[in-house]
Amino acid sequence: MLEIVGIDKSFGQSRILKGCSLDVRRGETVVLIGPSGSGKSTLLRCVNLLEPADGGDIFFEGANITGDFANAARIRREIGMVFQNFELFQHLSAAQNIMLAPMKVLGLSRADAHDVALDLLRKVRISDKADAFPDELSGGQQQRVAIARALAMKPKLMLYDEPTSALDPEMIREVLDVMADLSAEGMTSLVVTHEMGFARRAADKIVFMEDGRIVETASSEAFFGGSVNERAQRFLDQIL
Ligand code: ADP
Ligand code: MG
Repeated sequence: MLEIVGIDKSFGQSRILKGCSLDVRRGETVVLIGPSGSGKSTLLRCVNLLEPADGGDIFFEGANITGDFANAARIRREIGMVFQNFELFQHLSAAQNIMLAPMKVLGLSRADAHDVALDLLRKVRISDKADAFPDELSGGQQQRVAIARALAMKPKLMLYDEPTSALDPEMIREVLDVMADLSAEGMTSLVVTHEMGFARRAADKIVFMEDGRIVETASSEAFFGGSVNERAQRFLDQIL
């Protein structure tokens, strides 16, 4: 589904991504971990064409999308992204946040888009919040609306960038449960998170990134069985 091959990215003189390679097979959930500043968000942003890569290739369903900004709108329709800070439209209700893109981009009627929104709100377990505005929702509820909004475009791949790191502890679980359900249903996902309970539950593969490089890729079994390299283990010892 996604194959990242030797991606390089610099900001000014700083080399941020140094030949990163990673792949996500159809139906797989891959968890990307690593210290703050190691380049995880930059890597996701390159995949979603929010940043141009300086070198290397990104293949999505076999097509090289590196630098394909002409098709960025189509590619972003097929790759959903969920951010740390939800990024909901504050002046729109939960349902309206979800309806916007299906109406504007997919051409759905208001009634059909509303049906889609209600279905998705049920899926993320907040059917009763359709008419609530973001400032009337908890962080966990807002993030679930953001997930529903991404799903409304029927993406083939979901990218999550630390989706629970801005949440109070009691809300983390409800968001991770929704993500884990989606993974179990076969949604292909690349997830930046340090929630190792989620990784243990949902990940097929764990990738550890440090200082712009992928320094370990391991199956979930190997990873949690303790057979990872020393740098990854040291990081894990800090966060577990
Ligand atoms: P992570 O998500 O792993 O914490 P990031 O990808 O956000 O790491 O950042 C990696 C490095 O790139 C950091 O040193 C950050 O300051 C730098 N960086 C990220 N985005 C930009 C930008 N737009 N301009 C300059 N530097 C950036
Ligand atoms: Mg980040």
